[in-house]
Amino acid sequence: MPKKNLDFFMTNNKIPPLPSLPQPSQPPAVQAAALSLDQVSFAWPGGQQVFDALSLQVRAGEFVAILGPSGCGKSTLLNLLSGFQQPAGGNIRINGNAVRPEMPELGYVFQSPNLFPWLSALDNVRFGLRMAQRLSAAEQIERAQSYLALVGLADAGHKLPHQLSGGMQQRVSLARTLVLEPSVLLMDEPFAALDAISRNAMNEETLRLWSKLGQTTVFITHDIDEAVFLADRVVVLDPAPGGIRGIVDIDLPRPRSLAATRRLPRFADYRNDLMDQITQATQSA
Ligand code: ADP
Ligand code: MG
Repeated sequence: MPKKNLDFFMTNNKIPPLPSLPQPSQPPAVQAAALSLDQVSFAWPGGQQVFDALSLQVRAGEFVAILGPSGCGKSTLLNLLSGFQQPAGGNIRINGNAVRPEMPELGYVFQSPNLFPWLSALDNVRFGLRMAQRLSAAEQIERAQSYLALVGLADAGHKLPHQLSGGMQQRVSLARTLVLEPSVLLMDEPFAALDAISRNAMNEETLRLWSKLGQTTVFITHDIDEAVFLADRVVVLDPAPGGIRGIVDIDLPRPRSLAATRRLPRFADYRNDLMDQITQATQSA
């Protein structure tokens, strides 16, 4: 809004009448969720039921954290979302299509970076482009280098994984996934193995990359602070076969920074609310 109009709003209590708008001849198109689970049930072979009629929708570009006690089925949920496991009932869709692991719009980041130890950081990032035979060799190198730079490792491309710290290895792993430009990013406790300082840095890094690239993100964690800091919504899971205990909208301003965001009184409110839910979830086991 131009400044003149802003001044008008600031100095006038009365809101000027809106001009009457033409009525649309058609209702607006309903945008399909980027990711949707509809009545999903699942049990591991010979094991107990993990999910029974689980439904969840994630909007395009949304950042959703999945929080729950150990063993409640978080990794199982990610296996289902990625299409590596098929549900016994219900369905899972990515951009309206039944999920398949090879969908190019899907990207994964796991707890362990799992880099190829004999390949340099740059070649690790380039690997997926080579496998998919995307781009020429020179373009692959250029793109891999730009994603290494994006995660703050512009000068580390020649290094082997054992020459990098745990945090740096996880950055390479992130770059290796992002270089394939997925629109849906699935992350399973990606920073759980890092020390607190590296983990904090990676949380800020994750939000910086997300605000730049805008992927729909499902981030699994058992860390309440991490979930509140990162997410638009936090989904709390009950112990298996419990499903969703609650969903909390995190209405904290963006861009977020650890220094500022964690000091907001509302941050503590969300944290306490989620702590209560997790405690109840654990006691209901
Ligand atoms: P979380 O990630 O929340 O810690 P998981 O999804 O790994 O939980 O596990 C949920 C349940 O499924 C647990 O009871 C676990 O033992 C079981 N489970 C996980 N993976 C497998 C598997 N590959 N085969 C059989 N059971 C499994
Ligand atoms: Mg797990």
